[in-house]
Amino acid sequence: MYTEDTIAAISTPVGEGGIGIIRVSGPASGAIARRIVRHAMNGDLESHRFCYGSVIDPSTGDTVDEVMVVLMRAPRSFTREDVLEIQCHGGYLVTRRVLDAVLACGVRLAEPGEFTLRAFLNGRIDLVQAEAVIDVIRSKTEAALSLAQHQREGRLSERLGTVRDGLRHALALVEAFIDFPEDDVDPAAQAEIEAKSRQALGLIRELLSGFDEGRVLREGVSVLIAGKPNVGKSSLLNTLLQEKRSIVTSVPGTTRDIIEEVVNVKGLPLRMLDTAGIRETEDIVEREGVRLTLEKIPQADLVLFVLDGGRPFDDDDRMLLDALEGKRFIVVVNKSDLVLHLELPASLAGVTQVAISTATGEGIVDLREAVFQAFIHGVAIDSREYVALSQSRHWDALAKAQECIQTFLANLAASQTLELLAVDLKDALHAVGEVTGETTPDDVLDLIFQRFCIGK
Ligand code: GDP
Repeated sequence: MYTEDTIAAISTPVGEGGIGIIRVSGPASGAIARRIVRHAMNGDLESHRFCYGSVIDPSTGDTVDEVMVVLMRAPRSFTREDVLEIQCHGGYLVTRRVLDAVLACGVRLAEPGEFTLRAFLNGRIDLVQAEAVIDVIRSKTEAALSLAQHQREGRLSERLGTVRDGLRHALALVEAFIDFPEDDVDPAAQAEIEAKSRQALGLIRELLSGFDEGRVLREGVSVLIAGKPNVGKSSLLNTLLQEKRSIVTSVPGTTRDIIEEVVNVKGLPLRMLDTAGIRETEDIVEREGVRLTLEKIPQADLVLFVLDGGRPFDDDDRMLLDALEGKRFIVVVNKSDLVLHLELPASLAGVTQVAISTATGEGIVDLREAVFQAFIHGVAIDSREYVALSQSRHWDALAKAQECIQTFLANLAASQTLELLAVDLKDALHAVGEVTGETTPDDVLDLIFQRFCIGK
């Protein structure tokens, strides 16, 4: 998977900007600097020292752009190879021309994520950290960013390292007895083997149980505002979007080709389903009544079931309520500024209810809190100890590891052969290694790094 050639790419986004950065990594980086960068320093660039100069076209000798360059000699660089970074003016054509000058020296254009892949293959970061790099770039809320930064810094890797050390220790003990078959496994050794593997199992369980929270912080949750016409759905959406701190960004919808609004609730990204529908096609919603809303319910992680406090509970409300069977939802009684005419059915007794008024803003803070509580249960996301799994890939591998350790413990209790016990532990270690990258198959690695942009 690793080739020791030299790669290059534009690392800044396409378009106009203050500066554009062309990144080069590999053994030819220093030679390229010599060939195409003209600067005032005598001889080669000094490692890790910014230098002013210009890039020249190697075939014509013409100046391409005025630049700042830095050469970072291996291993003190992102990829642990010699890295050259050229900062030029940030424009579509000018960055392209600087890249062309680099490529003209016989360098290959980098694949998406290839710089990060090299950092991983050269052991600078493990796979969890490499995946966190892309999460850092894509984070939409402070909480998602802080989770991604924790993982990039290696806190999850550290926790997994402890799991691995425990399993290796247990395996070493088991193998010692395999090597010396004349010795019986004494009770003290057996107790130690069991203790070590139970400890590892405990840590894995803890990580698995934090997955739901980690995942929602990373991916966000999809939220549908449902209710019959005129209860205040669009007013609520607008209130949520207008609160300055809540607006994050509009991103292309993940499943459909529409704009999806993202609302930030205490760091939890809420992807508001069908916001275009609510805002722009109100007449359709009027015409088709609740039918359209009903169709969207299955896609939502959470439904905000909006009722009009000024009107009695009617058949339309009932139809929606029936459709929410088995769904996670919050009852939102809107128009609390009006005289209350709504009586909630007894079946809603155990469901979270919040009274709000989009007209006065009353209750909106409580609603945000209720939404947050529906997914995050009392964890201090920004505490230094907070380590959470956030990717299904990690969950799958650790669930496998958990199973192997459970099998191991059962086999240990049943005094199965040492060889069999060793296999269980090796399987568990293999599963943990899939998370950190030691035993991840190449095709999975390919998939992971394809998610990156070129130049990262
Ligand atoms: P939707 O059809 O469910 O999207 O409802 P809208 O957001 O369009 O609101 C319907 C009507 O209720 C509009 O005339 C709003 O001004 C009004 N409305 C919305 N929220 C409130 C509220 O909290 N109090 C009062 N008094 N009226 C509201």
